[in-house]
Amino acid sequence: MSTGHQTPAYTRWKKQVLAQCEPICIRCGYDVDMTLSGRDPMGPSADHEPPMSLTGDIAPGLDGSGISHMQCNRQHGARLGAAITAAKKNPTNKKPARPNPFPNPRRSTPADLFGSPP
Ligand SMILES: [Zn+2]
Repeated sequence: MSTGHQTPAYTRWKKQVLAQCEPICIRCGYDVDMTLSGRDPMGPSADHEPPMSLTGDIAPGLDGSGISHMQCNRQHGARLGAAITAAKKNPTNKKPARPNPFPNPRRSTPADLFGSPP
């Protein structure tokens, strides 16, 4: 599946986020050095919050965007991606196993169903 990272909409969104959002990592809360290259692990990256993998919106408004360290963005994305992939592969795994509150259901008797005979 294409992530659409090369689309003009994405490029425009990224530029806008990096220019207008506060240079504070939305993942770890530390300052982001905007002079670093985007290739640097501690460099700035445009991030989605809520995550793009959930919203499917590659270029949300600035309300749904922020700046994060390259490495924080990547770690977050990888974790989330793995969780989503796992959930898709095995959707029943998502629900925690719950103990059966009625391990030994009582058999219905005619009296249960129709009331006690007179
Ligand atoms: Zn960070």
